[in-house]
Amino acid sequence: MADPWRFHRALKRVGVISAFFIFLIVASVVLGLVDERSRGFHLLIYCWISFVFVMLTVTHEVRCPRCGQRFHAKGLDYWQLTRRCLHCGQEKYAKLEARPKSEES
Ligand SMILES: [Zn+2]
Repeated sequence: MADPWRFHRALKRVGVISAFFIFLIVASVVLGLVDERSRGFHLLIYCWISFVFVMLTVTHEVRCPRCGQRFHAKGLDYWQLTRRCLHCGQEKYAKLEARPKSEES
C-alpha cells in the first residue's frame, strides 16, 4: 500500500534541506566569505525568495489524505507547522484509521 503521507514527507525533507541552505548563506555572509553587494548574491537571494513563495504555495495546497481538504489551510487560517489537519484533525503521519481527538466525545 502506498504511503498516504509521501508528499508531506517529501515537503518536510525539502524544508529541512532549504533551512540548511539558508543557514549556509547566512553563515557565509557573517564570515565574510561572499560579497553581499555582488550581482550573483542578489540573484541567489531573488531565487531564494521565489523558492520560499513556491514552497508556501505548495504547502498551502497540499491535501489531507483523510478528508481531501487543504491540510494546512482553512479559510483565512494558514499554519505551515500544524501537526493536525485544520479540517478533520487528522494527526500528521498517523494512521488514517486512527480517529482524530477532535472527533472523540
Ligand atoms: Zn483532514
